[in-house]
Amino acid sequence: MNQTKKRMVLRFPAGTVNEPVTYTLIKEYDVLINILNADITHGKEGHLLIEMIGLEGNVADAMAYLESKHVEISPVVKTILFNEAACIHCGACSSVCFPGALEMDPSTRRLLFFPEKCVACELCIKACPLQLFELNFGVN
Ligand code: SF4
Ligand code: SF4
Repeated sequence: MNQTKKRMVLRFPAGTVNEPVTYTLIKEYDVLINILNADITHGKEGHLLIEMIGLEGNVADAMAYLESKHVEISPVVKTILFNEAACIHCGACSSVCFPGALEMDPSTRRLLFFPEKCVACELCIKACPLQLFELNFGVN
């Protein structure tokens, strides 16, 4: 069976936030979980941006387990293309990028781009005055 890698945003209902869901995925379903970003608060709805890596059947079973826990799964199938060379480091995009894919380096005042954290929300496309971002449709 083939190995697969899927990037997805998981939305946990408030009642599931404190359950060891990622531990169960790794232990019971033999998948590797890379947590790229987390927004979890005790007793509230939470979000995780993850990469799940494993055999296709295991990944499918792991996703079925998540659904049984009422975790909403949004696959990340789009990517953002960034014309970095033309950037003037104004910071407008970093202020809207909630997953932390665009951040201003506090020491150099230059923009840093971490594409692995991007969830393709498209907010930076609207925010950049120079229109340096565009959407790229790919297969996850
Ligand atoms: S699309 Fe832009 S604003 Fe949204 S996560 Fe990606 S880099 Fe950040
Ligand atoms: S908004 Fe555009 S020009 Fe400004 S820092 Fe972001 S990418 Fe660079």
